Amino acid sequence: MSAESDVNDHGEDAGAPRNFIRTMIDEDLEAGKYQGVVTRFPPEPNGYLHIGHAKSICLNFGLARDYDGRCHLRFDDTNPVKEDVEYVDSIQADVKWLGFDWGEHLFFASDYFERMYSWAESLIEKGLAYVDSQPAEVISAQRGELGKPGIESPHRARSVEENLDLFRRMRAGEFPEGSHVLRARADMTSPNMLMRDPLLYRIKHADHHRTGDAWCIYPMYDYAHCLEDAIEEITHSLCTLEFDNNRELYDWVLDAVGFARPRTEQTEFARLKLEYTVMSKRKLLRLVEEGHVSGWDDPRMPTIAGLRRRGYTPASIQSFCEMIGVAKSNSMVDIGKLEYSIRDDLNARSPRRFCVTEPLKVTVRNLPAGEVVDLDIEEWPSEIGKEGSRSVPFTRELYIERGDFALEPPKGWRRLTPGGEVRLRGAFFLRCEDVVLGEDGEVAELTCTYDVDTLGGKAPDGRKPDGTIHWVSAERGVPCELRLYDRLFTEAEPESDPERDFIEALNDESLVVRRGVIEPSVLGSEPGDRFQFERLGYFMVDLVDSAAGSLVFNRVVTLKDGWAKQVARASGEAPKKEKAPTRVKSERTKRRPERRSREDERVNARQESPELAARYARYKDELGVSEENADILSVDDEVAAFFEGAVAVHADAQSVANWVVNDLLRELKDRELSELAITPAGLGGLVGLLDAGE
Ligand code: ATP
Ligand code: MG
Repeated sequence: MSAESDVNDHGEDAGAPRNFIRTMIDEDLEAGKYQGVVTRFPPEPNGYLHIGHAKSICLNFGLARDYDGRCHLRFDDTNPVKEDVEYVDSIQADVKWLGFDWGEHLFFASDYFERMYSWAESLIEKGLAYVDSQPAEVISAQRGELGKPGIESPHRARSVEENLDLFRRMRAGEFPEGSHVLRARADMTSPNMLMRDPLLYRIKHADHHRTGDAWCIYPMYDYAHCLEDAIEEITHSLCTLEFDNNRELYDWVLDAVGFARPRTEQTEFARLKLEYTVMSKRKLLRLVEEGHVSGWDDPRMPTIAGLRRRGYTPASIQSFCEMIGVAKSNSMVDIGKLEYSIRDDLNARSPRRFCVTEPLKVTVRNLPAGEVVDLDIEEWPSEIGKEGSRSVPFTRELYIERGDFALEPPKGWRRLTPGGEVRLRGAFFLRCEDVVLGEDGEVAELTCTYDVDTLGGKAPDGRKPDGTIHWVSAERGVPCELRLYDRLFTEAEPESDPERDFIEALNDESLVVRRGVIEPSVLGSEPGDRFQFERLGYFMVDLVDSAAGSLVFNRVVTLKDGWAKQVARASGEAPKKEKAPTRVKSERTKRRPERRSREDERVNARQESPELAARYARYKDELGVSEENADILSVDDEVAAFFEGAVAVHADAQSVANWVVNDLLRELKDRELSELAITPAGLGGLVGLLDAGE
């Protein structure tokens, strides 16, 4: 299987992304504060890891890798109630699959319970902690509110002896849950509410998945986490922004227990929020438990297990995490970036195949029954630079995509029509001679002829077909199940309305199952094998449900962002798909890439204009811009001029291209480039600074 080859080679990190955390670490090392870098990834084993965790994993393990330090995998298992070994196992498998290794540094917070307990006794002895025996509601009411100091608990003045006695009896199991808690004697007037005598321990008569019934008191996150970091001599403890206010308490506990500086320090970064999905474990658990998805590894889930089952590669997730970077302010990330990462990775690792998802039968009248023309068709486009081909049988009975034929074609239709002629990819020209209608009036099948002189897709007389479509032999093709996955929610921010249950925003069409037919060369493929089904998308043989006699393919991602189109259609706008392909000539055009023009339109445009083709080739071959970016940047004069203006200032064309395509053009949506506040030279300068780590 291909799992191993999916893992990135960590050896080369020449392009390690700059961010404020790396700058801080450089300064710390420069100042001699720490001898090396020790980070940790501290999941609570109460759910499966998701793409947000992947951001934290790539950050923490990536720093350890790049600074020759180490990164611990530590289970923050201080709450026995929701935790489970199933999660402990899945988390380890997921981190490994992502390509990271903690070596010997696997830890469990529960292993430190005894030490944490004795430090708690020492806090009592120092007068820095006390047992409070009031009900939780009273404690919380006494905490006061912002701008208003809290009220001290009547138990705050308990003697050390009384506190020790009560705390020991809490541990011994003498009290019911909720009857006592251990609190820090911190500051009831602090403007930081978390500092108003926070809880350190609570009673929970629950079995723990590792310590069993050894404990019936459990430490709170704010007490435990900093001690775990200190025990393991973590240098940089990275967490998400919500823990901003907890930092004061983190330091308070370490001071109180007596850890001297330099010691572990907490730094916050923005958590990943991704469009069209939810990330909270509680909500993901609801999706699983209420049966909206088939499990934690449902290919629509944002979990690592789901992404793996869908067909994502570790390399694509890593490059996504690099692309989004690490910043200090929260923002919603365009899901297009995740999809871009996987497309970019799969493009070079997925051989091309033909598959028909909604078969329409075609009889090739002038090819005798039983005759098979074995066509040798390249499985890589030339830009990939890989050799290889497969044999594809061309027979009298074929299938084409139902959607590639129109009885009454709309204007600009570039596929098959009655009397029309298309190129069958890798084969011949095909002309539609006759349409057979079924009883329901729908097209039942087509009778066609092929032109034997057009083998390879070129006509000796130079005539042009109406377009190029894919096809499969009906006689030799293999039936298969196709699982066409789409976004789990119909809205970019399913949680945006607090009044509404996010479940209501689920996309009914996030999974469409089709019976398709695929070319016979896929027989013998293994679970985990990935292909590009031409014109359809990237697919992977399902890891669980596929078997030799009944292949199941998951659609990992479409070839282009089809979502924008669907949204337009739903809102009553003319579907862009059906629009006549505008000719892009060298005069100024209003069309813009990605959202506005489709790849095949751009290909057509280049076929019509040698000028555009030359520009495309120059971006790709001379400037080293990726095929996908060159395609987008070269086709529109305005965009091309902007790009070239920026490159004139900052010569790293690949970097500029990424910025223009991934940020500028996405940001632009329907506005014009000229409406932007930034000039080409300004962008070039900016990218230059960013590349230099400023
Ligand atoms: P939840 O609140 O849904 O339970 P969590 O953040 O508490 O999730 P943990 O298991 O505690 O989940 O997370 C482990 C680590 O992963 C933490 O350091 C946390 O900061 C980080 N993490 C969790 N979610 C994200 C996210 N969306 N983006 C970046 N880091 C995240
Ligand atoms: Mg947590």
